[in-house]
Formats: sequence, structure tokens, C-alpha cells
Amino acid sequence: MKIICIGRNYAEHAKELNNDLPEEPLFFLKPDTALLKEKDFYYPNFTNDLHFECEIVVKIDKVGKNIEQKFANKYYSEITLGIDFTARDLQQKCKEKGLPWEKAKGFDNSAPISNKWVKLKDIDFASTEFCFFQNNEQRQQGFTRDMIFNIDEIIAYVSKFITLKTGDLIFTGTPAGVGPVAIGDILRATLNGEEMFLFHVK
Ligand code: MG
Repeated sequence: MKIICIGRNYAEHAKELNNDLPEEPLFFLKPDTALLKEKDFYYPNFTNDLHFECEIVVKIDKVGKNIEQKFANKYYSEITLGIDFTARDLQQKCKEKGLPWEKAKGFDNSAPISNKWVKLKDIDFASTEFCFFQNNEQRQQGFTRDMIFNIDEIIAYVSKFITLKTGDLIFTGTPAGVGPVAIGDILRATLNGEEMFLFHVK
């Protein structure tokens, strides 16, 4: 499986990092070794500025290539929450030099996700809200209605270039409020008020 991540998909977050709004979805990949399923997260030794980015994650249910937007909803049925961990110091250096981001975004365990999945038929996705807490302080609050590109648009766009396979994950971008984590932190997130994950940073 592969992990596809969308960048700058919430206007307020693009602004907080001084990025322009994208005219088409911006995506990058994380390898399967980035996935961490609700286990302790160990702060990597190659960064001093590791940031959380809490995001809605979509699981792809079947293989598709060149998927038309109007059929994209047939390719997924469940979502969860995850963190697109970012070594912001490494990413900043890569951005300044115009270099790829992989070491800042794709390192081992950089994509923790919840073990719980929520079926879209059970929620009103259009009015879905998610919140991220660091040591019980709310840091991020996202609303699906604020996504610049919705899930169907993302699937149609990405599948023009890359075949989507069963089990692939799409991180759909983070709302404003990203910030640094520290060893000892407890990272928690809720979807429509229901707890989805709790990670310890060690
Ligand atoms: Mg992100």
C-alpha cells in the first residue's frame, strides 16, 4: 500500500505557513513504513522541530485509474484520523533549496493513524468536524466544508497520475493550528466528538 498526502488543502493552514493557495491538489507520498497504528511514537533524532498535522484519512476500497470525479465516491467508504508528522526544520531547508520533502515527511512512523474507522454512511460528512488535542489543550479544529479540494476531487486528480489500489490511504490535508510536539506529549483527536486516537510521544 501507499500513503498519499494532500498539502495546503485548508486556506487558513496554507496562510499560517506563508504558502499560496493551490490551484490544483498538491500531493506527495509517504512509504508504507511511515504507517503507525496506535502505538507509542518515538521522537526521531534527526529533527528538533517535529510538527503535528492532524488530518482526515480516507481508505481506498478498490483499484482505480483515471477515476472520474462523479464516480470517485465508489472508491471509498470509510475515514479515520491520522497525523502527518512533519520535520518542519528539514522541510524548510528542502523548500528553500527546491529539494524533495521525503526525509521531512516520509520517515518511519511519520503517519500514525487511528485503529478505528468510521463508515461514511453513518455520518454526515459535509458537516463533519475534527479536533486535535496536545496534552488536553485543543490545538486544531477542522471542518470538512473548509477543504479546498474535496475527497472526490482529490481521487479524480491523483488517479490521473497514480493508480489507486485497495488499502491505499489518502491524508486529506490539515487545518490551521499546526505546531511542535515534545517528548512526553499525549496527542489525541476526536471526530464529531468521538475519540479516535491517543498517542504518547516518547
Ligand atoms: Mg499535511
